[in-house]
Formats: sequence, C-alpha cells, structure tokens
Amino acid sequence: MSKNVLGELIGILGKENVLTEKEDLINYSYDATADMPSRMPEVVVTPSTKEQIIDIVKLASKNKVSIVTRGSGTNLSGGTIPVNGGIVLSMLRFDKIVEVDPANLTATVQPGLVIQRLNESVAEHGLIYPPDPGTVATATMGGSVSECSGGLRGLKYGVTKDYIMGLEVVMPDGEVIRTGGKTVKNVSGYDLTKLFTGAEGTLGIITEIIVKLIPAPKYRRSMLAVFDDLDKAGKTIADIISNKVIPATLEIMDNVTIRTVENYSRIGLPVDAEAVLVIEVDGSIEEVVLREFETVKAICAENGAVSTKIAESDTERDAIFAARRAALPALAQVKPTTVLEDATVPRSKIPDMLKALKGIAEKYNLQIGTFGHAGDGNLHPTILTDESNTDEMERVHKAVDEIFDVAIKLGGTLSGEHGIGMAKSKYMELEFGKTGVGVMMKIKEALDPDNIMNPGKIFRRDAL
Ligand SMILES: Cc1cc2nc3c(=O)[nH]c(=O)nc-3n(C[C@H](O)[C@H](O)[C@H](O)COP(=O)(O)OP(=O)(O)OC[C@H]3O[C@@H](n4cnc5c(N)ncnc54)[C@H](O)[C@@H]3O)c2cc1C
Repeated sequence: MSKNVLGELIGILGKENVLTEKEDLINYSYDATADMPSRMPEVVVTPSTKEQIIDIVKLASKNKVSIVTRGSGTNLSGGTIPVNGGIVLSMLRFDKIVEVDPANLTATVQPGLVIQRLNESVAEHGLIYPPDPGTVATATMGGSVSECSGGLRGLKYGVTKDYIMGLEVVMPDGEVIRTGGKTVKNVSGYDLTKLFTGAEGTLGIITEIIVKLIPAPKYRRSMLAVFDDLDKAGKTIADIISNKVIPATLEIMDNVTIRTVENYSRIGLPVDAEAVLVIEVDGSIEEVVLREFETVKAICAENGAVSTKIAESDTERDAIFAARRAALPALAQVKPTTVLEDATVPRSKIPDMLKALKGIAEKYNLQIGTFGHAGDGNLHPTILTDESNTDEMERVHKAVDEIFDVAIKLGGTLSGEHGIGMAKSKYMELEFGKTGVGVMMKIKEALDPDNIMNPGKIFRRDAL
C-alpha cells in the first residue's frame, strides 16, 4: 500500500484510528478458525461514522486496495483473514442500538453491536431476537448477518436470515444502498436483503441492520437425555421431529465431547454415556409446552434413554445449556489444533451422518468429537489434532474431504451456519456445480469488479 493511501486514511480517521504497528496488526492476521494460514494486514482502521466508511471505500476502490470488514473475528471459516494484506476495517465502534420499535416488532442496530446486548435491551418489551450462536456474548450483529449464523434455537426459530428485514450497505464503489425495511411484506424487486445476508463481507460493508423481533416464549421445559448408544440418540432426534414436536433446542454431544466437557468444567455429565441430548421445548401456552415435553420424554424412553435429567429451575436449565456451550472451548483444550466442521444434512439423515462420522474417525485413525444442532441436521464434527504433525494433518484433510462428500451425498450442504470463507471454498462446486458457482461469481464481479471486498472468500482465491 502506498504512503499516499496511508496518509489519506490518517486524514479521514485521525492517526489514533489507523494502526500500522506490527504488534497491533498481528491481532487481525487470524480469526477463530484453525488450520488456516495467517496473513498480516497492512493497516487496521477503526471508523466511527458512515461517512468515514464511504471515504475509506472510495479511497480503496480508486487504489484497488482490498478491505476485510471485521466484527469480533469469531467466525469459523477463515472469513476475516486478510489474504491480500490491505485494509482490515473494524466495525467495533458501530455498537449502538438505533431504535427498538415494539409497535412494529423491529429493532434497528449498528453492525458492531454484540448480539446479547440486543436481547438484553428488548427483554424489557417482552421480546427476543432468536438467533443464538454459541458466541452470543462476543459476536457482532454485522458478523452474524454476514455469516448468516444459526445457533441453539435454529430448529424452531430459524437462523439469522429469517430475522433480517432490511440493511444499509456501503457498496464497493462507495455508494450507499438501503434494502428491505420495516414492512412485514416486501416483494419489490430482487431480494437484496437476502443477498447481503450471508455474503461474508464480499459484496459491501453493512452499516445498519433492521431485525425482526418476536414475543418471548412464556414457558419452557428443558432436559438432558442420556444414551448408551449413538444410533439410539440419532433415532430419538428423528422420532421427535417426525412426531411433529419442534423443540426450540435439540442438541447432541457424543462421548468424546461429553468426556472433554466434563474434564473441562466438572458439571456432572455422565462420562460413560455414548451420547447426550439437550432438549428444550418452549411456547406461550403452558399446557401445550407440558404436553410436548411429555411426548419428548416418552420418545427418549422408547428409544432406550438410560436416564433423563429434567431442569427444575432456571439455574439447572442454565447449567445444562452451559455444558453444551462449553463443547467447542473444551474440545479446543485437548490438542493444539481443533478442526471444526459444519456439514449439515436433512434431519432425517442424522443417524446416517453420525454413523458415517464414526466410520471416518476409524478409517483415518483420528479423534473426532461430534456435537451440534442435531435437530436441524447441523452437526459439528470436530477433529482434535496437531498442525505440526504433518502425517496426521494429511489424514485430517482426507477426512474433511470425505465428511463433505458424505454430507452432499446425503442431500446436505457444506455449511449450516459458519459460512464458506477460505475454509470451504474448494468444495463449492461439489454443492453447486460449475454453473451454480459461475452464477454467484457473476454477481460478485458485477458488484465488485476489482475484487476489493474480502477477496479469497467463498470462491477459490485463483478463481476471480
Ligand atoms: C466457540 C464458538 C462457538 C460458535 N458457535 C456458533 C454457533 O452456535 N452458531 C453459529 O452460527 N456460529 C457459531 N460460531 C461462529 C461465529 O461466532 C459466528 O460466525 C459469528 O456470527 C461471527 O461474528 P463476528 O462478529 O465474530 O464476525 P467476524 O468473524 O468478525 O466476521 C465474520 C464475517 O462477516 C464479515 N463482516 C463482519 N462485519 C461485517 C459488516 N459490517 N459488513 C459486511 N461484512 C461483515 C467478515 O468480513 C467475515 O466474512 C462460533 C464460534 C466460536 C469461536
């Protein structure tokens, strides 16, 4: 990057908002994704107004410098690694709730807002914003919109794209557009809101978000069901859904994960169990919630659950959920490298996918812990390995290839919620074919002809 560009950035933002020292830049050279190359940006900027963002984008566009927009950097697909160097643009100063509008059941927020803060703010109106990734207390709204995050409530309430009603976006040429709005119905033109949701920062910079809120469910019942056989747990998941009960949460942890979580947080999980399910049903009519809970309990028993622990208080419920939320941090302690995947299958295929994962672990002699949002078919097989062990890493890469291959053959997708980023770009044709990927590339080239917005993501680096 030329000295002139750097000078102009300082002119736009002031020296204190332009980082160029190595010890500062290094923090932006990687994200939460394992087994990815890190790359130093040339400069990190922290704007606090939309006008500054417009000026930065116009400057970058004129000089063909790439921009990687960054929230909290918790994504799991290598989405914020600045592969071409260039500018990392941190959105953390855009952290305001612009408006909560209970009459329209919407909120308007800035993209650097941490998700949990939105929920804390709307709770006083008896409302919730349902998307609930494990990182709800750290991830930003902009990052979660751009990855289309899911989380622990996806089964019943859907994922981020189901709650995004409108966006303001600074386009790669510095022009600003608004998409969607507060109306419940909106079918005018192409659905640009959906296009930018899940675009992983490759099409523009989101500067404002209008979200849909829903009434908070009044009642909930939660439990932990313990199984001595992974297949029985898999069948329980399929049976709950086919019996037309849609729990808010239906999560699985296998034996490797259970043992690791217990070792990490000593919360009394049954370490001999082959699988546990974390299940919560909720709703606004107590009688219906209780009836559904009884159905779930009966299905667990029919499928041979060894025991069930029912949460009798919010504290007990929170302890069960804390165990599930600890899964990834706990697994990440075991070995130096944690390769976490996001393959997702139709929910009726969960038992097949669980079986296939067990087979893949044996075939490649790898330790794989599997947990995830099983109710919506979104499993997180997590390979515990060591990046410095080249022989093992070769087997890891073959295992990952096979995981995606199986998922696609079962009618699934490469990503249920973590996005493609750098991590999965090489598999895109497996899911969409050359023509499908070609259509997406045409959209990217039309909106960002110089490929300055988060290059090297979604599409293979050499593809554009
Ligand atoms: C322990 C752990 C648990 C997790 N659990 C879940 C889970 O349950 N469900 C789930 O879905 N994910 C989960 N994740 C992944 C991650 O938390 C989500 O992807 C999260 O939403 C990313 O938010 P962020 O603010 O960290 O975004 P970042 O990582 O900073 O960015 C993510 C992407 O968004 C782009 N971006 C950021 N802000 C903007 C903007 N304003 N405009 C345009 N593009 C932008 C970036 O360029 C990048 O491509 C987990 C991660 C960890 C480490």
